[in-house]
Amino acid sequence: MMSENPKKEILLVALGGNALIRKGQEGTVEQQIENLKLPLQQIATLTKNYRIIITHGNGPQVGNLLLQQECCQTVPKLPLEILVAQTQGQIGYMLESGLDAELMELGINAKPLVSLISYVVVDEKDPAFRKPSKPIGPIFSEADAKAAPYPTIKTAKGYRRVVVSPKPVTVIEKREIRKLIGMDFVVICCGGGGIPVIREGRAFSGVDAVIDKDLVSAKLAEEIGADIFIIATDEDGAAINYGKADQKILRSLTLEEAARYMLKGHFPPGSMGPKIEAAMQFITNSGKRAVITSIEKIEEAVKREAGTEVVK
Ligand code: ADP
Ligand code: MG
Repeated sequence: MMSENPKKEILLVALGGNALIRKGQEGTVEQQIENLKLPLQQIATLTKNYRIIITHGNGPQVGNLLLQQECCQTVPKLPLEILVAQTQGQIGYMLESGLDAELMELGINAKPLVSLISYVVVDEKDPAFRKPSKPIGPIFSEADAKAAPYPTIKTAKGYRRVVVSPKPVTVIEKREIRKLIGMDFVVICCGGGGIPVIREGRAFSGVDAVIDKDLVSAKLAEEIGADIFIIATDEDGAAINYGKADQKILRSLTLEEAARYMLKGHFPPGSMGPKIEAAMQFITNSGKRAVITSIEKIEEAVKREAGTEVVK
């Protein structure tokens, strides 16, 4: 029986789905496995001093699954919540096997790790059900986006399909996750924002939506009492005037500044917006550290040497 180790701080790392498929990449499985090496090497090292939870996005992957089934007319289509479950399996598998290899490389042979199918409760009355807002899948040309039989929006990366994205209310498996973390398991969970479900009497039923992984990670970090929350994406941090000549990546950001820049439109919905919102929520509700950084700089961010830290 493994002993509980309350001394090691709990570090929650949220990996971006876009960090697994980099800008301009096709997104083959070889590319995704290669892209994961750098973050997983760092996470493997961090297991020495921290208890670790990994959450991950699935925007590109779940959008690709949706397209795959639309390309094929001969098999029944699956609803979005089943596709989210599929991405928890596919990405969880890549993370688990990749991390295992990196741990072995460091000579850490007996580290228990587990990837957990996770459900997240959403509110059926959430106004987000009325308007698709979360970009998923590949980038389209303007012409292809206009001709698509589903809603699309223009993002910083180009045109993308959008789906509804209700707010996470609670992570169903939080007790199990707390137990596993208590035993110093590395836990991979809440993949793709978690499988969205609503309560129906005593049961749960899945809904056709994709929850934002940054917001669910903040919720989980709070529910399990994480100490440090790292949001790892494909940029070195949150910038003001993003994409413009006077773009500036911020090293730290107070709650008040974050709210002000958000209002001014520096952090768009569906990309940087939810990361800032997630960091603010975590800092407001539990007062520990929250940093937005790139997947290359996870360790540096933990050491306060990189990223955008949201502070009180
Ligand atoms: P992830 O898969 O990591 O969640 P997202 O695409 O959702 O990735 O969010 C990261 C993206 O946010 C970056 O690639 C960048 O294009 C975009 N972005 C928008 N506004 C900003 C900003 N102010 N600072 C940095 N990145 C921004
Ligand atoms: Mg995202």
